[in-house]
Amino acid sequence: MSSLLKFSIKQKHREYRKKRKEKIFKGNSVQCSICNSEYREFGPFGNTKRKNSKCHKCGSLERHRLIWKYIQDKKLIAKSIRLLHFAPEKVFYDIFSESDDIAYFPCDLHPKVYDYKGKTIINKVDITQIPYETDSFDFILCNHVLEHIPNDALAMSELYRVMKPNGLGIFQVPIDYDRDKTYEDFSITSPKARLKAFGRRDHVRWYGKDYKERLTNTGFEVTEDDYISSFTKEEQFKYGFDSTELIYLCKKPMQ
Ligand SMILES: [Zn+2]
Repeated sequence: MSSLLKFSIKQKHREYRKKRKEKIFKGNSVQCSICNSEYREFGPFGNTKRKNSKCHKCGSLERHRLIWKYIQDKKLIAKSIRLLHFAPEKVFYDIFSESDDIAYFPCDLHPKVYDYKGKTIINKVDITQIPYETDSFDFILCNHVLEHIPNDALAMSELYRVMKPNGLGIFQVPIDYDRDKTYEDFSITSPKARLKAFGRRDHVRWYGKDYKERLTNTGFEVTEDDYISSFTKEEQFKYGFDSTELIYLCKKPMQ
């Protein structure tokens, strides 16, 4: 069987499963802040099958809906901006690549793993050596990337360098708030040992409460925003948010 045919069969199965789920979860108790679809509940997702997590239509997860709601509410993305996006999540890629107002630069160290069909090419970029000019981006999205990077201080300093003065970024990472200090041990290198130590096979650390300080040390003005607590419990369920997530909004001050 040709790989193209295999792909098209897979695609059909995916579409079928999606339609079926949309039917099963029909309702209006939850609403996706990205695609506006309404359901009885979002689908379960993740190793632990978190409830009320994945949108049946656009595939958004808790953190995507939270970040998008935040960006919209705070009007963080204006027209005519240059936007750099690391490890581009599909839900955001689809919005930005379709926008005529945004000069959009999605990138990843391994761009071949993405099969997105948008019009913007995903560039190969090493976050510790960003091939763009200093002071060149108005907004940077870099979610769930830094926990994979051994020299995260260098990555942060590169994010800082390419951001325009007064520019903004959202840099989310998984954080264990029971730890005061970030835990990293570079002698742990095997996927199995990393899974045990850091919760994932490809993570190199567990960030702790000092994550904000690590960003501040780079030069950013950091707002650790407990935005989620501005919503009632009912609203948090409605939008399918993870009630423990804080938003890390980083600004490069004017020099
Ligand atoms: Zn959605």
